[in-house]
Amino acid sequence: MRHSAVGHWMEALPPVPLQPALAEDVTADVVIVGGGYLGLWTAHELAARDPSLQVVVLEAEHCGFGPSGRNGGFANHYWDRLPSMTALFGREQAIRLAEAAGGALRRLGAWCAEHAPDAEFAWTPQVEVATGPLQDGEWQEAVDAVAAAGHGDTYRALAPEEVQRICRTPAFRGGAIERDAATVQPAGLVRALRRRVLELGVRLHERSPVRALDDGDAGVVVTTPGGRVRARRAVLAMNWRTGSVKPLRRKLTVASSHVVATRPVPDALKALGWHGHAICDLRAMLHYTRLTSDARIVFGWGGGRPAMNGRRPRHLFDDSVVQARTAAALCRFFPEVSPADVEVGWGGPIDVSADHLPHYGQLRSTFYGFGFTGNGVAPSRLGGEILAAMVLDERSDTTTLPLVGRERRGFPPALPTYAGGSILRELMVALDERDEQRRGVPMPLRLAVGVPRRLGFHVPR
Ligand SMILES: Cc1cc2nc3c(=O)[nH]c(=O)nc-3n(C[C@H](O)[C@H](O)[C@H](O)COP(=O)(O)OP(=O)(O)OC[C@H]3O[C@@H](n4cnc5c(N)ncnc54)[C@H](O)[C@@H]3O)c2cc1C
Repeated sequence: MRHSAVGHWMEALPPVPLQPALAEDVTADVVIVGGGYLGLWTAHELAARDPSLQVVVLEAEHCGFGPSGRNGGFANHYWDRLPSMTALFGREQAIRLAEAAGGALRRLGAWCAEHAPDAEFAWTPQVEVATGPLQDGEWQEAVDAVAAAGHGDTYRALAPEEVQRICRTPAFRGGAIERDAATVQPAGLVRALRRRVLELGVRLHERSPVRALDDGDAGVVVTTPGGRVRARRAVLAMNWRTGSVKPLRRKLTVASSHVVATRPVPDALKALGWHGHAICDLRAMLHYTRLTSDARIVFGWGGGRPAMNGRRPRHLFDDSVVQARTAAALCRFFPEVSPADVEVGWGGPIDVSADHLPHYGQLRSTFYGFGFTGNGVAPSRLGGEILAAMVLDERSDTTTLPLVGRERRGFPPALPTYAGGSILRELMVALDERDEQRRGVPMPLRLAVGVPRRLGFHVPR
């Protein structure tokens, strides 16, 4: 298996010339740091709402270098999170948020139909399956809550034989299905967004890392190696790198997820009877798998090693041990696929917030969004709308969502968070393995894995 520095999705697209790095001092109304989905959607919304605004986007590498160009391409709403969101925000706000996320997913689909054939947006039901006894029925509380909210057709339980009709493998037990889910070609989506914001007159500079941000009484000045941008307002859309911003440091922690892709395997897909549903399991550290338009299996694992906030270790992007484990899991799940079929692997960082949901907020003239925790493809569409409205001082349905301006308890300091996260990861990997192998999970291990949840933290999935 070959390692890819940018991921299969970006490699599958024709190269485009980079936008020039910032090479002078400029002024703007809004400067956005980060050219992933969140930064580009924010730029898109600002430019679409007010074409006279001067918007500058600064991207350290190239648009889509981060998770936006290398993710699994599952586009989801929040309905299956209704119980945990209800515990956080109350039932009414949780339903409002689930409806807003569903709306953002529909708008993403409509936008892709108009502007982004290369994003390959496809409405594709998503199946959550148990792969071990401990996962059986994990979905039931959410299925009941969604039905009670009047959306039972959106998310419902599946018997084991129904799961087998979707994909025939002994690895799968029962599960649940999200009807209104979609898949995208992730790098195609970020490319289309990049193209569209340029068409809308946004000024984009790639290879322009922001080294400093000064938010003073007269506005914001951001500094890159080649020049500075002076603006009225700034937006930080830096994903896991938000951890390098002092006031936000304790609000997130960094994990990683790794993905492998096979060569086209049409015969294996035929044997599995698998025609395209996106699938994930319900382990503590989940697997997620889907097909590409050219009959490859893409298979990811959320069990990558964490990193300490503010650091940038190589293993976030390239971890041969984790990628080998991910490839082995693929072949276990789908015995029709042999290790020789697995062509390429890659990885990327995950910006984990304490409650698993994104946070949007403001520090003087600087606005920020982070914390997608592995679910950002569709939610970043909503995030761009929220941040644009905040920058424009609009009070709207989006800025009053419970994701905005909430003061949640942060994580402990970086070192204990990293050490605790690393130990917890080992425990979760052990628990998942025993469960999948039907070896039984000893109670002390279950209790240990449940400690963070009892302390009010969600564990990364
Ligand atoms: C392997 C993997 C699989 C995933 N699978 C899924 C999935 O299937 N479905 C889903 O919904 N989500 C998934 N996610 C999560 C999803 O990809 C992210 O939530 C989403 O892409 C976040 O977008 P973003 O714009 O916040 O971040 P990014 O894509 O990271 O964009 C931030 C950008 O900011 C730039 N930047 C950072 N610091 C600076 C600086 N100082 N100066 C200038 N630029 C800077 C970075 O280079 C980067 O390009 C996955 C993530 C990974 C890693």
